[in-house]
Amino acid sequence: MNDCIFCKIVRGEIPCSLIYQDDKVMAFKDINPLAPVHILIISKQHIESVQSLDKNNSQIVAHIFEKIPYIAKEADIAKSGYRVISNIGKDGGQVVPHLHFHILGGRALCTALG
Ligand code: 5GP
Ligand code: ZN
Repeated sequence: MNDCIFCKIVRGEIPCSLIYQDDKVMAFKDINPLAPVHILIISKQHIESVQSLDKNNSQIVAHIFEKIPYIAKEADIAKSGYRVISNIGKDGGQVVPHLHFHILGGRALCTALG
């Protein structure tokens, strides 16, 4: 068993506000929301970040991106728009080293990326 926070959420050892799950992914509310809608969608398998993707595990990204439109629609941000972000490593501001994508919406987001 690893100590990863998101693996603990997958195993049910840490509670979360669940939005969606299937055998490969889990989506839940971010504990520290930066927008009215702030959902994280994660792989159930422990993959460190986008930087750890390769031809053997990258199908998970297609699966995640197939679910995002459904999650956005359910969260009522599909029409107004939203942003999908994945932070990678130290300079990318990644705090939890487990593959995840932020889904942010419910307000006009700042246009600057830096
Ligand atoms: P990162 O900077 O790694 O891309 O973002 C990690 C995100 O995970 C942060 O937005 C943080 O608020 C969120 N987070 C960290 N720990 C927990 C937790 O235990 N539960 C939930 N729901 N979100 C968490
Ligand atoms: Zn993990």
